[in-house]
Amino acid sequence: MIITLTPHITEPQIEEIGALLRTHGWSASLVKTQSGTYLVGINGKEIDVRHVGRMAGVLDVHRVSDVYKLVSRQWKVKPTIIELGDGVRIGAGTHTLMAGPCSIEGEDQVRSTVRCLKRLGIRVMRGGVFKPRSSPYSFRGLGLEGLRMFSAIAREEKIKVITEVLDASQIESMYEYVDMYQVGARNSQNFTLLDQLGKVDKPVLLKRGISGTLEELLQSAEYIFSNGNERILLCERGIRSFEKSYRNTLDLNAIPYLKEKSHLPVIVDPSHGIGVRRFVPAMTLAGIAAGADGSLIEVHERPEEAKSDAAQTLSYEEAEELTLNIEKLAMALA
Ligand code: PEP
Ligand code: MN
Repeated sequence: MIITLTPHITEPQIEEIGALLRTHGWSASLVKTQSGTYLVGINGKEIDVRHVGRMAGVLDVHRVSDVYKLVSRQWKVKPTIIELGDGVRIGAGTHTLMAGPCSIEGEDQVRSTVRCLKRLGIRVMRGGVFKPRSSPYSFRGLGLEGLRMFSAIAREEKIKVITEVLDASQIESMYEYVDMYQVGARNSQNFTLLDQLGKVDKPVLLKRGISGTLEELLQSAEYIFSNGNERILLCERGIRSFEKSYRNTLDLNAIPYLKEKSHLPVIVDPSHGIGVRRFVPAMTLAGIAAGADGSLIEVHERPEEAKSDAAQTLSYEEAEELTLNIEKLAMALA
């Protein structure tokens, strides 16, 4: 059960509602976000919600049977729109293409990517500066210095910046340079990181774990929300399966499922989802047809020279062709 409280509810009023819930066996947690105050109740017995709804300080009451609560569509039917400023909005009914290199490699590369994105009308650039790599000897990113450079160049052109945060200790120093934090697949259940991202007032793109279920993804999103940050995007990036013909198995089923179960925008990452350059465009279109609010694509001027994920990275020409096909698909779906 979710009880939405009035902004000016008093402590004694909260206590009164909490006491009533406890007498019916509910365990209640108070959640304060940048836009609301809620009491989230779990595990209780039957209670007259009309009575709760009439109590002082209560705006409304909803029963939510899903194990996750505040990210559930049982509570909030209207889709959440993520505003990044300068008119960039994700989840507002049209598809948002986001692109960039797997790793930020240097100033020339960032400038060239920004030029490509501008030409293709892409407003959001993703590039990693803290790279989670399977081998500690692989390129692990340019770090905060790289992020400063990336952010300065992108912002000159009003391009929004997404980059991965690997550890809670990095959140603060990254803050002024990012428009959105990415939580990677390997950190999808790093609950201390999720707790801390809940305390930040910038959106978080949360990827599904490598072997994570959709319920686990939604529960991870609930960690962020319940710590105070309502601005979350869910990202399907492929799961590990028995199939070895490509890097991961992009679970397209996740897209309509997540859209039905949650009000949060759903993003598809076909680059990691299949991991093979020549198949990425087809899977991007498939993700959009399945209802994704946005997609995340890896691009590079010379993909074969990319310092990470070269095999799944599109060239600028391939990205351009994809944008044209996305437009055609949008017309067909309209
Ligand atoms: C990435 O986005 O480059 C990345 C490492 O993704 P994932 O966490 O999905 O593997
Ligand atoms: Mn990558």
